[in-house]
Amino acid sequence: MESIQESILVLTHVEAGGTDSLAKPSLAKSSLEAVTAGVSLAARLDVPLSIGVIGRDAIAAARTLAQTGARLLAVSGEDFAQARYSSDAAACEALCRASQPSIVIAPDGMRFARVAAGVAFRLGGVIDTHITAIDGNEGIEASRWFYRQRLEAVISRDARPWFLLIDPGTHLAYDCTPGEAASAEVAQIAVELPRQRTTVTGVRSPALSGETIRPDAKLLFVAGAGWTKKQPDGQVHTSDAAPLILNFLKASGASLGSSKSLVDQTGDNQQVLPFLTHMNQIGQTGATPRHRKGLSTCCYGEEPHVVGWRFISERRAISLDPNCGWARGKADVVYVADAFQVMAELNKLLN
Ligand SMILES: Cc1cc2nc3c(=O)[nH]c(=O)nc-3n(C[C@H](O)[C@H](O)[C@H](O)COP(=O)(O)OP(=O)(O)OC[C@H]3O[C@@H](n4cnc5c(N)ncnc54)[C@H](O)[C@@H]3O)c2cc1C
Repeated sequence: MESIQESILVLTHVEAGGTDSLAKPSLAKSSLEAVTAGVSLAARLDVPLSIGVIGRDAIAAARTLAQTGARLLAVSGEDFAQARYSSDAAACEALCRASQPSIVIAPDGMRFARVAAGVAFRLGGVIDTHITAIDGNEGIEASRWFYRQRLEAVISRDARPWFLLIDPGTHLAYDCTPGEAASAEVAQIAVELPRQRTTVTGVRSPALSGETIRPDAKLLFVAGAGWTKKQPDGQVHTSDAAPLILNFLKASGASLGSSKSLVDQTGDNQQVLPFLTHMNQIGQTGATPRHRKGLSTCCYGEEPHVVGWRFISERRAISLDPNCGWARGKADVVYVADAFQVMAELNKLLN
């Protein structure tokens, strides 16, 4: 088999809203993680690296990446300020045609996830998504997880260009030059846009539960069904649970997860915590978020729930039950205590 002469292009975009009159243009965090992946792959293989930036003020944002030593390219202008399939796909295609890469690395975020497969098709390439690592002894091997993070696949391909979409949270964000390196050379790439049928008038995101799910938080706070169960005094205290949890989230900036039993109660006509939806559910049939620390409260810690904690490094739990699942080796620390009391005390300290 002929060896492939690799060259790498990292596709990035400016953070939405990062270029208004006051704010400096900045790259989205997921884009900076893709830059880290590209820089380290290019260094390991000793091959050329280009970085393409898309956004209203993409040239200034590209200059913040001067220290990568990469060839910098930009698709800049008002047409590229907002995510839109037709303009984003055209911009990514133009950047690829300008740099002719064999490997294209991009963040698997909302903006590029929907255009990357189309762009790969236009270039006659192939794509793999949800990549968590790019390694390999000599060649390139990309890893991703399947079946709710139970199986890890390591993929290698001969087909080029090969697009790799990097899952956010799997790499450190590249530490850019503070401000822009004014002397850095940035090639501005012209894009011939197709007729635009879509005008972006704004962004509407789900209320409440959306605001409690914070993928970038250091801490995951999980609420279990115990918060709505009868307590040692024989009464249910759901109305006390809500402010305790919300105050803690506000003071700590934690992301809110839930057990399945708790979110399922919404459909059972039971007293519920109104800010929880199935979007918050962690576990086998829920999400597998990535946070450095996790605190579980009023949750038993059964395997179908704990499997969703796969990427949480430091785990603590507060449970009344000394024999709960957490106490059987699934948490680093278990506080056998009443979570109502512990959280009230914790909120007092935080406030
Ligand atoms: C196929 C399948 C898939 C599943 N997928 C998921 C999934 O994705 N996610 C998931 O979460 N579950 C999942 N489950 C369900 C899972 O097995 C458990 O039933 C569920 O996680 C239990 O939720 P819980 O621990 O909140 O509730 P419970 O089991 O009712 O536990 C409540 C806990 O709260 C404690 N408690 C009560 N009051 C207090 C207090 N004041 N202070 C401290 N502790 C207190 C109790 O001691 C108890 O341990 C799945 C099950 C199956 C069969």
